[in-house]
Amino acid sequence: MRFDILTIFPEFFGALPDQGILGHGVVSRALRAGIASAHIHDLRSFTHDRHRTVDDRPFGGGEGMVLKPQPIHEALEALNLPPRPQRQESGTAVILLSAQGRRFTQSTARQMAGLQRVVLLCGRYEGVDERVAEMLCDQELSIGDYVLSGGELAAAILLDATVRLLPGVLGHADSSRYESFGEGDPAPAENASTAPAGVPTSGSGVGNDGQPGGEPSGEHHPAVPRSTHASSGILDYPHYTRPAEFLGRPVPEVLSSGDHLAIRRWRRRAALAKTLANRPDLLQTAELSDDDRSYLASLGYIEQTSPW
Ligand code: SAM
Repeated sequence: MRFDILTIFPEFFGALPDQGILGHGVVSRALRAGIASAHIHDLRSFTHDRHRTVDDRPFGGGEGMVLKPQPIHEALEALNLPPRPQRQESGTAVILLSAQGRRFTQSTARQMAGLQRVVLLCGRYEGVDERVAEMLCDQELSIGDYVLSGGELAAAILLDATVRLLPGVLGHADSSRYESFGEGDPAPAENASTAPAGVPTSGSGVGNDGQPGGEPSGEHHPAVPRSTHASSGILDYPHYTRPAEFLGRPVPEVLSSGDHLAIRRWRRRAALAKTLANRPDLLQTAELSDDDRSYLASLGYIEQTSPW
């Protein structure tokens, strides 16, 4: 998958291949492995005046400056993208980062990971001439309900969240599925309360960042706890590692019990409790079992039912 990032601050993404967000962790591994590529373009290279001017005063008056459409148009032309009506079928999207855009979520990241090529346009100042959104871009995306001073951080977030979903990037194929906002977790097998001999249960594989100590990679056995069982649209469950006791607080006993079904249940409930405490809005759209519902009710959650 190819990313092109248009910005007036190319150094933001790192001057050298091993610096900045492109030079670290999962993104760096994906770039080095050739699973993704990222190309940073300086919008000032597409100006024609001595001062390399990319902005101008707003029509109608008011505060600040606005990014001019012409350098952006020329930068996009230089990328040789398919014409706008054919972009979707060619797996290409030009995205304007904007506080006025549709909200970027894990589901948007999954859709983006299915594309071949994404162009990320970073705004600055008061924003970008509206004709860019109307005529040159395919969609406007916002990373949240707050205003940043530029689109570069937002572009970095889209890149990171998308790249880690590309096949082969994370150490374990299921790692991105069974985490916060992930897809549903199939029910464990009836008699799957303990792991079969020889199936590792934790700590022997490669972490999501490529470091030792994470989940083992390869086929998942239903009896083995996954990296998370807190998916189907709710938050991840709490994670613990050594030491078993920290500042007098022990790790929940069940996690050392070896009873994998009990661990699954505990993790699911811990994730439900955390979601109820921090993001109760997610419970309205999450896939919940009867057991989930009765546990949430025991915590005082009152389910909203549709008046229809
Ligand atoms: N006047 C704009 C508004 O009120 O919506 C804010 C412009 S902001 C200071 C400058 C640039 O930062 C925007 O053009 C956009 O590229 C980026 N930006 C700011 N907030 C963002 C957000 N929540 N998501 C994505 N990009 C954002």
